[in-house]
Amino acid sequence: QASLADIDPQIAEVLDQELGRQRSTLEMIASENFVPRAVLQAQGSVLTNKYAEGYPGKRYYGGCEYVDVAETLAIDRAKSLFGAEYANVQSHSGASANAAVMHALARQGDKMLGLSLAHGGHLTHGMKINFSGRLYDVASYEVDPDTYRIDMDKVRERALEHRPEVIVAGWSAYPRQLDFQAFRDIADEVGAKLWVDMAHFAGLVAAGLHPNPVPFADVVSSTVHKTIGGPRSGFILGKEEYAKKLNSAVFPGQQGGPLMHVIAAKAVAFKLAAAKEFKARQERTVHGAQILAERLLADDVAKAGATVLTGGTDVHLVLVDLRNSALDGQQAEDLLHEVGITVNRNAVPFDPRPPMVTSGLRIGTPALATRGFGDAEFTEVADVIAEALKPGANVEALSARVKKLSDNFPLYEDLEQY
Ligand code: PLP
Repeated sequence: QASLADIDPQIAEVLDQELGRQRSTLEMIASENFVPRAVLQAQGSVLTNKYAEGYPGKRYYGGCEYVDVAETLAIDRAKSLFGAEYANVQSHSGASANAAVMHALARQGDKMLGLSLAHGGHLTHGMKINFSGRLYDVASYEVDPDTYRIDMDKVRERALEHRPEVIVAGWSAYPRQLDFQAFRDIADEVGAKLWVDMAHFAGLVAAGLHPNPVPFADVVSSTVHKTIGGPRSGFILGKEEYAKKLNSAVFPGQQGGPLMHVIAAKAVAFKLAAAKEFKARQERTVHGAQILAERLLADDVAKAGATVLTGGTDVHLVLVDLRNSALDGQQAEDLLHEVGITVNRNAVPFDPRPPMVTSGLRIGTPALATRGFGDAEFTEVADVIAEALKPGANVEALSARVKKLSDNFPLYEDLEQY
């Protein structure tokens, strides 16, 4: 059998180059991670060949006896990891999981309430041109202009005004924990269903480092590829009473054949997330983000006009506010790229700049924690970022420090090529 390099040298080269990029730079995009070899193996397997519309034991195709085992393992492990009554592991992505949740909980035209995109919410929580904004009548809550935190009194006010059928709690860019009990109380008061999207912080929940939304929410959605560090995909948890509606919303409501190779890889990721090492990794992740926040709050960085929103973090990411800096979000992202650190620019709440430029950075620690970083390395990388954000940064010297860190933490050592 011919190898990828023989059949398609151009794509083989892309894979090689991407592996080289991942090895030689420091990945600090808050939504990214490095999957273990076992996940790559499951995902790059012959299970990709199998059609399995339906659910374990109730398929519309023959030959599902083995993929049924994989999906059942993934379901059971997801339920056990998060203490959920029900799990669906077929969603291809976080966005498709979210579409299925709304499909199950609401009808077209119903009202929903979510965190504004400009204040850290996700596209699927009501952005105008997303399915959520097109199919549902959306109102948003925002962060407080002084504290940059979600003010639950304001959420309640918005809920009483808008009277939504569904309230979504969750974020893509917010550095603090949510008060799930307060969200539950508000949902009960206005007769709404509570949906929590824990895509970002699911790994912290699995490790017991963040409150678990499952006991509070009607439905919880998530990705597997962010803090959990599994294959790129989504899953849904919920109370048993929603099982039928959610299953039929995913298939046939939103999707056709499930990606059985990805579902097998999810099972592997959930197994690993129950292990002791996983908890230690999540602890390094959160502690690393706190080290970064502290460094970026120091006087020398403040003098350069940069600061940390909410004055710190409880999770795996830090939001840097550059509104008073000489650098805008794009320039800061580019500068860090030159130094060898990958981050993404991110609008800060009340951002005066357009979304393609922004006045902020979102910097996350999950991928570096997976790579093995602990306090000492996070202290060093935090200092590199701090120096980079100051005027007249010495890019060459900072790049050398980044190279030393990445050389000391080799990635996918046993793999020559993907
Ligand atoms: N929900 C939240 C809160 C997210 O941050 C994201 C991803 O950025 C998603 C859902 C969507 O996940 P995916 O990119 O897999 O569709």
